[in-house]
Amino acid sequence: MTATTQKTNLLGRTSAELTQILSDMGMSAFRGKQVFQWLYKYRSRSFNEMTNLSKADRVTLKDHARIQRPVILQQLRAKDGTEKFLYRLEDGHTIEGVLIPETKRQTLCLSTQVGCAMGCRFCITGRSGLVRNLSAAEIVGEVLAAQDHMSPHRALTHLVIMGMGEPLANYDAVVTALKILLDPGGCDFSNRRITLSTSGLVPGLQRLARENIGINLAVSLNAANDATRDRLMPINRRYPLADLLATLRDFPLPGRKRITFEYVLLRGINDSPEDARRMARLLEGIPAKINLIPYNASPGSDFTPPERTEVEAFQEILLRANYTAVIRESRGGDIDAACGQLRERQCSGQPSVIPGESKPNKP
Ligand code: SAH
Ligand code: SF4
Repeated sequence: MTATTQKTNLLGRTSAELTQILSDMGMSAFRGKQVFQWLYKYRSRSFNEMTNLSKADRVTLKDHARIQRPVILQQLRAKDGTEKFLYRLEDGHTIEGVLIPETKRQTLCLSTQVGCAMGCRFCITGRSGLVRNLSAAEIVGEVLAAQDHMSPHRALTHLVIMGMGEPLANYDAVVTALKILLDPGGCDFSNRRITLSTSGLVPGLQRLARENIGINLAVSLNAANDATRDRLMPINRRYPLADLLATLRDFPLPGRKRITFEYVLLRGINDSPEDARRMARLLEGIPAKINLIPYNASPGSDFTPPERTEVEAFQEILLRANYTAVIRESRGGDIDAACGQLRERQCSGQPSVIPGESKPNKP
């Protein structure tokens, strides 16, 4: 371990935690709030920038602390404008994030783990299992680094936790990161603009329900009966549909919120009219929105997506049962940035990025 890595990384701490760390270094309580603002509102990477701190406090911070976040090694742009970031972590592992530009919103898709332990058959992220959890610093750092690389006239508006990894299997780091992302003195995202997607870890969902942070919830359903779901998503053997649906029926949904159900359509596996009718019955009584995602193939995959007419027929059954059901067009497929295509990559060398630094004005 080097002297630098022994220093405390200030990123990834809630405002209260940061205040405690600084007070342990002998600083006044209000410094916590100031440094928190510098880290998240102004995205500072150096203590020199923190000009409203005394010189002595800046020296203390330089001696005992660091600001360590993932580095964007590569930024690829797809034909449809979708961008993929390749982030390098401190220990050399890599993760991917995707920026989806739309007319009125800019959405960043975040990763929460290197790899994934869930082993869903259709998803490339989990192919080599779980490598490790991301820390809260790394998760928030994905947002900060992406914001620094976005062009100045495009502010990030939405976050979806739908990249690499199962967020509820890395619960503490994910919830700490969410608290920082939601903090008005920090990244200041509205809870209406953050969505967490899970494969259905029931204990994690029960904990999240008690957290009272009000973010949007998406659940990867992908099958409407246990036999098919067991086969596609091994997690279903531990938390079968009845348990998952009972937990979701109890999930607190403020106001007019609905749970999003993601359903990857796999030809001949889960795409029949009977599957659609079964899903309509299964979700009865749950305020639901259904996203139908035609399968995105990766090299060596066993599945294929259904024909467009079959996807539309599937959607039609759900619409007739009075559900909101949307066909999600895959974006960024030409740079392997679509759902289920993110994975760790071997990389070396210098960062190669599309230029475009955007930094907010400082006080
Ligand atoms: N682990 C979480 C979040 C990341 S996966 C989860 O499973 O919900 C995000 C979404 O991508 C999930 O809904 C998943 O079902 C979907 N997905 C995975 N592989 C896919 C593929 N090859 N084609 C289309 N969607 C896929
Ligand atoms: Fe993990 Fe989600 Fe992929 Fe399943 S779909 S392997 S839970 S990332």
